[in-house]
Amino acid sequence: MALDGEHLIQRVEQHFSKLGTIGIQPDGSITRIAWSDEESAAMAYIRAEGEAFGLRGSYDGVGNLLLSTPGQPSERYLVGSHLDSVPHGGNFDGAAGVVAALEAIRMLMQTDGQQRCGASLVAWRGEEYTFNAVYKGSAAAFGLGEPQILHNVYGDQSLRDAIRQQGFDPHFIDEGRPSFQPEFIDSIAGYVEPHIEQGTVLERERRDIGIVTSIAGDRRYLVVLEGRFDHSGATPMGSTYRGDVNLAMAYVQVRLDELAQQRRAQGRLFTQTVGIVNADPEIDKKYPAVHGNSVTKVSGIGYFTFDLMAAEDEFLDTYSAEVLRLIWKTAREFNVKAFIEMTDSSRGLPTLDADLSRDLERAAAAAGASSQSIASGAGHDAVMVGLADKPSGGEIPVGMLFVPCRAGVSHSKEEFASAEHVAKAAEVLAGALIERCIDPAGQAHG
Ligand SMILES: [Zn+2]
Repeated sequence: MALDGEHLIQRVEQHFSKLGTIGIQPDGSITRIAWSDEESAAMAYIRAEGEAFGLRGSYDGVGNLLLSTPGQPSERYLVGSHLDSVPHGGNFDGAAGVVAALEAIRMLMQTDGQQRCGASLVAWRGEEYTFNAVYKGSAAAFGLGEPQILHNVYGDQSLRDAIRQQGFDPHFIDEGRPSFQPEFIDSIAGYVEPHIEQGTVLERERRDIGIVTSIAGDRRYLVVLEGRFDHSGATPMGSTYRGDVNLAMAYVQVRLDELAQQRRAQGRLFTQTVGIVNADPEIDKKYPAVHGNSVTKVSGIGYFTFDLMAAEDEFLDTYSAEVLRLIWKTAREFNVKAFIEMTDSSRGLPTLDADLSRDLERAAAAAGASSQSIASGAGHDAVMVGLADKPSGGEIPVGMLFVPCRAGVSHSKEEFASAEHVAKAAEVLAGALIERCIDPAGQAHG
């Protein structure tokens, strides 16, 4: 068993060193954009690796990769993650889950006994926020994609053209038609996504594995404040004379933080972040007057982004309304105008499947992996699977496994998860799949 474990770690290392060459940039970061040649090359590598040990590879209508155990089982478990990255991202966000799933299915296939169900690896296209949208491949798989995203542009290419250029069909998204076959969706008995944590909880607590309890959704806003450019010496202070955007923005930020602290003290679980203040080249193009701010002027215009993440959709809506009211009220007080645009919204999953989570926990204990429950503050493809309806009725149970990543860093060339930890996740996932799919009593026939 120890020898096997070593081979597993070596294979995991090999996968990462190969994937780490696909989309590598001069600065050492990885760029594998949705429906790019690099994303397709990563898919082709994983497909070849799976087919080499007997999985059947195929692409769905929009290019999500499926690698299935042979046969036509009436039930199968779907396991995997995505292979795209943000621009100048790392080699582990998404890829770690695909690698763990690939090795888990290999272990499942090597286990003696009668198979009660099958397994399919999925590598989703375009999970990351590019083309102004997330979960693009997983949404399309279940007919949940928004047709208007096909017009969104990355670089100088529309999403529609990017999908076509890789040889796939954007009409599935146009028509809201699932790119997975209906019979295939009906056969999915559960979905498990391994993924790097993108936070520091597991590292701090020295755990090998996190069993995810909920996944956050988001509401993202661009807030533009408009006041008046005036001479800094000649214009008296106070809102009677000034419409000082920088001052208003400072108060808005402090009050938003106070509001968040109040709600958190009441037990609400969420995060909010002002990510950009007057420093985005794309937004600057829309509001060039922001360059008119200077040392000797009262600030006349400014903007900031506001990102809110929580698992409960209803809370995201009610809290967003509070946020917007607070911004408008504060802006009025400082004699400036506030224009607020929602730039993104995605749903979360407040609960993951209890039975799957329990089986993953048990499998972790059996594999000698320390584990703990953990809420996901980031969004994942698992949300789309959890929101999908089966053609024959019913939902797909969803579970997620978190792998520790160094210093919680992601979306950067510094992103790193150890081969040992990814191998552990593969073992845990394999344990849960074997428990559900292999009948050891049927060994004689296996
Ligand atoms: Zn990811």
